[in-house]
Amino acid sequence: MKENYLCPKCNAHLRVGENVVFYVISKKSNNKGLIMLNPNLGDYSITSHPKVTFEKGEYVEFYCPVCHANLAASKINSNLVKIIMVDDLTGQKSDVYFSKVAGEKSTFRITDNKIIEKYGDDAHLYSNLFDISE
Ligand SMILES: [Zn+2]
Repeated sequence: MKENYLCPKCNAHLRVGENVVFYVISKKSNNKGLIMLNPNLGDYSITSHPKVTFEKGEYVEFYCPVCHANLAASKINSNLVKIIMVDDLTGQKSDVYFSKVAGEKSTFRITDNKIIEKYGDDAHLYSNLFDISE
């Protein structure tokens, strides 16, 4: 399966090769730049300029690099970022949420209000937002 990632606001493709590209800003340090996340959910490796790094616990705002929309999932929890995942083969769409708090590992793939995939040591902080049956 190959996943495509889209901006929920403008539908722009955020995946470039084996990266998902975001424009990020730290409100605290005003440090800003582009970062590239791994398209495999649960892989927290990040590629960025050596100067674009964030302290653990820092709130990092994620923006679409195309339309500059803030991707915070404010309706669910403003600590989370929301993007759209589309399965290249089936066309199935999911919502992908991950934490924008630096160092926090928490990723969810949601389809039809159900958690389909969940990753990260900090996922328990947010899992109750998605599935009350857990
Ligand atoms: Zn966009």
